[in-house]
Amino acid sequence: MARYAMVMDTRRCIGCHSCTAACKVNNELPTDIVYNPVTTVGPTGVFPDLHMANLPLICMHCDNAPCVDACPTGASIRNDDGIVHVEDEKCVGCLSCVMACPYGARVQNHQTGAVQKCDFCKDRVAEGKLPHCVKTCHQKARVFGDLDDETSEVFKLVNGRNATRLLGELNTEPFVFYIYEKR
Ligand code: SF4
Ligand code: SF4
Repeated sequence: MARYAMVMDTRRCIGCHSCTAACKVNNELPTDIVYNPVTTVGPTGVFPDLHMANLPLICMHCDNAPCVDACPTGASIRNDDGIVHVEDEKCVGCLSCVMACPYGARVQNHQTGAVQKCDFCKDRVAEGKLPHCVKTCHQKARVFGDLDDETSEVFKLVNGRNATRLLGELNTEPFVFYIYEKR
């Protein structure tokens, strides 16, 4: 069984938003729903030594997922491979998971009433394909794979580059990792 993870290499991200667009188009998301925005951090430092970084965001596929714990119907599920997803037909739109998620990764579809979020393109992954955002990123700033496979690129990046987790102090144990180095 794989343990899927994604690495965001902020040194490589140029903030082109191709990943955001590819996700929206291929997942046929409504206009007001975005699964993976790209934000900008900075500038930090003191002129002329200033630094800015682009920060792609997404559901963190937390190992200890508060959204799953908060869901009263079992609609929010964490698979053994680590992918957290929502079963639309079980979602009653109570928004408990939206409030429980510290990353703002969930949003309600106002047409269906169900909550939606990134699912790492699990249907594509089951066919051996990459998530749309990863496939689209020409900068290779997004890397996806099996963190239990020591030969995988995600394993090497996470273990060799001081990769960090967002809001790590919350102990949600995200399986999305960030490489951030000042240049
Ligand atoms: Fe950054 Fe890649 Fe997304 Fe462009 S496609 S914004 S380079 S992560
Ligand atoms: Fe759940 Fe939010 Fe963690 Fe995603 S980022 S698994 S929606 S708590």
